[in-house]
Amino acid sequence: MRRAVKIKAELLTLIKNNGSFLIVSHFNPDGDAVGSSIALAMGLKKLGKKVHIANRDKVPDALAFLPSSGLVGREAPEGVVDVLCVVDCNTMERTGLKNLKASKTIVMDHHIMPDNAGELWDNDTLNHSIIDPGISATGEIVFSILSELGVVIDKDMAVNLYTALLYDTGGFRYANTTPESLSVASRLVAAGAEPWRITKELYESVPYNAMKLLAAAYKTIEKDGKMAWMTVTKEMLAETGTTAEHTENFVDYPRKIKGVEVAVFFREEADDLCKVSLRSKGGINVQKIAAIFGGGGHAPAAGCTVKGPLNEVTRRILDAVREALRKS
Ligand code: 5GP
Ligand code: MN
Repeated sequence: MRRAVKIKAELLTLIKNNGSFLIVSHFNPDGDAVGSSIALAMGLKKLGKKVHIANRDKVPDALAFLPSSGLVGREAPEGVVDVLCVVDCNTMERTGLKNLKASKTIVMDHHIMPDNAGELWDNDTLNHSIIDPGISATGEIVFSILSELGVVIDKDMAVNLYTALLYDTGGFRYANTTPESLSVASRLVAAGAEPWRITKELYESVPYNAMKLLAAAYKTIEKDGKMAWMTVTKEMLAETGTTAEHTENFVDYPRKIKGVEVAVFFREEADDLCKVSLRSKGGINVQKIAAIFGGGGHAPAAGCTVKGPLNEVTRRILDAVREALRKS
């Protein structure tokens, strides 16, 4: 069974002893990335720190309900900050941001580290960081850090952190749902997060045109043995007036099929670029498949962006999935 998040004394000291913070996360931010960033910013502000959040992309409309979502800016502040906090990803590449200036860097994340992690971060950063794929959501790490720092979690922070946990555990259904994540969720509800209000925002507020897109995408579902996949083309987005953010979680639909072990979602980004999402029901580590194509993530949920036309990317990814299934 998973242990509780262990917060390093060095990390707490570093936060206590510094004044200015820049929080960044991965591009195309999701509920965990945004919720964790905002809650961390709110907590650090309560400690009297100067805090900025920067993301390459805007907060998706579906997450605009998060309290203080306006804190998430698109650009880093001028000058050098004391501490850069890299949240819900563990490479600078995943942030899509460049030339950030900070005296120290902390990574708070739960994704599998790439093989060359040692070259990406110096020892000082790794000493202060928490990177643990056994943790359900980065929100759980932020909750533990703020609690250790003596920050009282208020209602707005609780809503952000509950959303982070809800999002990354798929509504507390996935295998990463642990006694610890449920215990943190319980404390967040006690602090004012209202489960049904947040559930409604996350799962019961699909824009009508996004539902039309889903209807079109359903028709593309195909199955071959233990794999199934769904596709969204540029034309489908244009016809329904939707954007990439409306395809969030579409990969869940091919995964629902009985007998499917690996589900894939393909989204055509340009004539020669596709976003791929991979999900496994348990037996196959899809992070390893995504890593072949320069991506990453978790063993049951991973993604990558692959150069090439849609039909070619589809063939290459499905070949890799087929091979993984054959070896399993
Ligand atoms: P999704 O398929 O929903 O985009 O992402 C599933 C998981 O894989 C998320 O945890 C996400 O952060 C991660 N992920 C998605 N795309 C990439 C990628 O290109 N590189 C890495 N390292 N992780 C990714
Ligand atoms: Mn996450």
